[in-house]
Amino acid sequence: MSTESNQSSPFWQAVFSGEHPELRRGRKLLRLASPTATHRCRLCYAGFDGFTAPLMRALGRAQWRRNPNLCEKCESVLSEQRGGAELEIAVLYADIRGSTQMAARMSPADFAARMALFFRTAVDVFTWTDGIVDKMVGDEVIALYVPTLTGSDYQRRAVTAGLKLLRLTGGAENDERRLPIGVGVHSGKVFVGSIGTESGNYQLAALGDAMNYGARLVAAAREGELVMSEAVWKAVSNDISAEAHEYDLKGYPAPQTAYVVRASS
Ligand SMILES: [Zn+2]
Repeated sequence: MSTESNQSSPFWQAVFSGEHPELRRGRKLLRLASPTATHRCRLCYAGFDGFTAPLMRALGRAQWRRNPNLCEKCESVLSEQRGGAELEIAVLYADIRGSTQMAARMSPADFAARMALFFRTAVDVFTWTDGIVDKMVGDEVIALYVPTLTGSDYQRRAVTAGLKLLRLTGGAENDERRLPIGVGVHSGKVFVGSIGTESGNYQLAALGDAMNYGARLVAAAREGELVMSEAVWKAVSNDISAEAHEYDLKGYPAPQTAYVVRASS
């Protein structure tokens, strides 16, 4: 059963078409109002720690206990407003290469600490480029760049975030943030909103072919590489230099042209 909540909703259409500018303004404000936070609501940016944490709690934006990625206020919106809207966004995938081998070389606690640091670094980069953290699962993070929240340069912001993440994780051998990661960036139409799952739960999520294509691009990226689709390349080619490459992407007719940037270049 694909649940009935996975339908267009006037609320989400209004939010993502910019008719609800409160979300955009609110995010800027909450980000500035909690400058020292290291954990934030992935939707509204309210900080859960740092010296402004009591203020955020007073505003009803305490961390939600069942999903530490959301504040209580955003959680209530997601639970009341099921469904979503179809819109053009950019999507960024970043994942760690060889995390299985890495885990085998370290104690579980050390491995967990490295992953936590990676997630923290990624969330920080996404927050300051106006992305929404879609998922942090296993050894992968996914961010969404929605035009009504970022402005018309959403594709460029996704690429900027990807390159920043590659730089931050590509440091010297003794840098604790150093990790072998690859990044994929694509843009296209997806369905975003509060999406129901089989078990009756719901979550902020994005669905559609553009998400799958982004996942294929990150799978094609090698360590230290950002691979972007033709659609993204068209939007950023004035400012960024990249190399065209032909890829066989699983599930898509071969070959697909995509563009590669290396962190070192
Ligand atoms: Zn929130």
